[in-house]
Amino acid sequence: MPELPEVEVLARHLRPLIRGKTIRGVNVRRAKVLAPTSLRKFRQALLGAKFTGLTRRGKYLLFQLHAKTGGEPVTLLGHLGMTGRFFLARKNVRPPRHAAVVLDLGGENLIYEDTRYFGRLTLDTSAVTRLGPEPLESVFEKSAFGRSLKQSRQAIKIKLLDQTLVAGIGNIYSSEALFRARIPPRLPARRLTVLQVARLWRAIRKVLAEAIEGGSTVPLNFDGSRSNGLFYFGQAAGTPDYYEERLRVYDRAGRPCPDCGGLIKRIRQAGRSTFYCPCCQSA
Ligand SMILES: [Zn+2]
Repeated sequence: MPELPEVEVLARHLRPLIRGKTIRGVNVRRAKVLAPTSLRKFRQALLGAKFTGLTRRGKYLLFQLHAKTGGEPVTLLGHLGMTGRFFLARKNVRPPRHAAVVLDLGGENLIYEDTRYFGRLTLDTSAVTRLGPEPLESVFEKSAFGRSLKQSRQAIKIKLLDQTLVAGIGNIYSSEALFRARIPPRLPARRLTVLQVARLWRAIRKVLAEAIEGGSTVPLNFDGSRSNGLFYFGQAAGTPDYYEERLRVYDRAGRPCPDCGGLIKRIRQAGRSTFYCPCCQSA
């Protein structure tokens, strides 16, 4: 599932490709992803609108546009869910079966595809107002982070998934950050020492920044099997998995810890997998 770094890398790649493009056609194949925006309102706002920018907040994409009439700003919120993808394809290439929304940009289509139906593309931007601070910006303060942790009885791994604490961290980077900070994942958040809070705060920023850096320096997958010009975020068959190589504990149960050589362990927390090194991350 895409987390902050993956969404950031996608936004950076997509931004220059759509900037200045006008939406000439709006083809919604699964209106559910627009909710609570109605199909009529969605079409009305986007038809003839021009893309002016693309930013990221937490795990959300925020497409900025100028409306056709009056040029008033329109914001379109995109969320990739589990398997969502945004990509550009030449107009003569048939959109994939799970394309939920196809925006006609002239010579190309901007396609939003979601095979498992957990993503969104909507004019309702209320989800971002509930988000906590951006971890890579100065608004993410160590002292405030520590105070929030002090108020929680939850295991630190589960608390890190709380998007009101800090935005954009999911199952992968919570495990990675705790490993870097040498903190046991089951430790209650409020029991972290001042030193552990400082280490975790630094580790969060480091793992996310490194992941963005890694994703930005390798080409995203251009699926050659379909057609040139298809832009993908995600794994195309036969391409090396850059992301996985960089992860130190996530999805590496039974393999040696890169620091101590002991075996990485997998446990379940709140129904999801946590990966950690029992030796490096003991209290
Ligand atoms: Zn270890």
